Amino acid sequence: MPNTLELSNDRSEISIDSKEKELHLASSESQMDSNDYGDSTDSKSLNGISSRKVWIEAYGCSANVADSQAIAGALSTSGFEIAEEDEEHDLNIIVTCSVKDTTEHRMLSRIKTLSSTGKPLIIAGCLAKTETAKLERLFSGASLLGPRSLTKTVSCANAAIRGIKSIELEDTDGREKLNVPRVRINPIVSIIQIGVGCMSECSFCQTKLAKGQITSYRIGDILRAIENDTRDGCREVWLSSTDNGCYGFDLGTDIIELLRKCESIAGDFRIRIGMMNPMYMGPLKGRLISLLEESRRIYRFLHIPVQSGSERILRSMKRGHTVKMYKGVVESFRDKCPDITIGTDIIVGFPGESERDFENSLQLISESKPDIVNCSRYSARPGTSASLLEGRLATEVAKDRSARVHELVTKITRERNMQWIGWKGSIVIDEVNQNFVQGRNYAYKPIFIRKGDFINGSPQLGDQIMVQVQYYTSRALEAVELG
Ligand code: SF4
Repeated sequence: MPNTLELSNDRSEISIDSKEKELHLASSESQMDSNDYGDSTDSKSLNGISSRKVWIEAYGCSANVADSQAIAGALSTSGFEIAEEDEEHDLNIIVTCSVKDTTEHRMLSRIKTLSSTGKPLIIAGCLAKTETAKLERLFSGASLLGPRSLTKTVSCANAAIRGIKSIELEDTDGREKLNVPRVRINPIVSIIQIGVGCMSECSFCQTKLAKGQITSYRIGDILRAIENDTRDGCREVWLSSTDNGCYGFDLGTDIIELLRKCESIAGDFRIRIGMMNPMYMGPLKGRLISLLEESRRIYRFLHIPVQSGSERILRSMKRGHTVKMYKGVVESFRDKCPDITIGTDIIVGFPGESERDFENSLQLISESKPDIVNCSRYSARPGTSASLLEGRLATEVAKDRSARVHELVTKITRERNMQWIGWKGSIVIDEVNQNFVQGRNYAYKPIFIRKGDFINGSPQLGDQIMVQVQYYTSRALEAVELG
């Protein structure tokens, strides 16, 4: 019988651009000394206001987390302090996400609570751009700051503190997101935005309406940002963008060229490649497989969202790839790198999804055996073409399908994790909580060790230790330290 365990605390799933992750910036550590935001009013000289503490909270994907870190960095180098939880403060900022209805409801309820405090409020992120009229109607006093308008962060905050509302939604070229001061939530994780926007027109997607067409950042700027962060002690570098698969197409380069250049940076760190859509993987896969085979720096980890196992539904989603393409990509990587961790996303209950379409999704999951599946029930986002489609499914049907996906995924991910039993190797600690430390191995597998199991005291963030995996669940592995 294989060894299994149920971890006693409710750990979150491996984060692959988790759309539901909520974050509170509680650190006030500033990573760099300079900023190019152009407004560095001294905190003591602002109309006699001496206290300018700001509370920032963010929802959504890793790009949103990175944006909130850049907002915090810009403000902390311009005389603001970042408030800790429950600390008295003068300004609230919420960085919003537009992917799901459920997240929007949670955020709107939170915005209502923040508004009721009477403190100035800035609504940043995707909703500010995609739901402008609704936010203005519901929260008429709040300032709005778009996801591609971060150069206006400090002026917007200074105005809000003075009681002046601003609407900053104009897109810049996005380069303000690189090589700017940041307040990192996890001191060993560097989230580097390599671009913003994408080249797709998925019919269900409101993010596209907020982020627009792709703008890739120059390789030299990205390398400089990685050098800075790794010099600061970061051991994990996440290369993040709306779709890494089309990174560089607007500059005449691609993600492989970027990764090859990253290989030459000195330092002790690993790189996690962010989400790449399947249609770009065909031309990239040969070179990417070689790179993963050679590299000791790039995690053997890919996030390739397929969304549906039905060709008909994929066409209706305007995804630009087929089921066959996705299967071919997964097979190629598993053939050459059997230990690779592959994550994917599935939407259930898309308009017109028949029982047969859904069964095709189950079939695809069974055959391709992803290590991680983010399953979402379809929600019609305003302004998207899919929101006009007929054939909406009853909530109960979508819920039932979601539960069936969950059941299948639990079985498959347990099987995948079981294969790691007995594995010995090194991990780098990237999370420490009350009862466990968590580290990542070369395949970005989350591996937990109970704090009580360490003979010589538990390791710190960033430490590298040797472990042996002894137990598994559908979500994680548990190990003991090797002496
Ligand atoms: S790739 Fe599709 S789902 Fe992703 S942001 Fe672009 S349009 Fe939206």
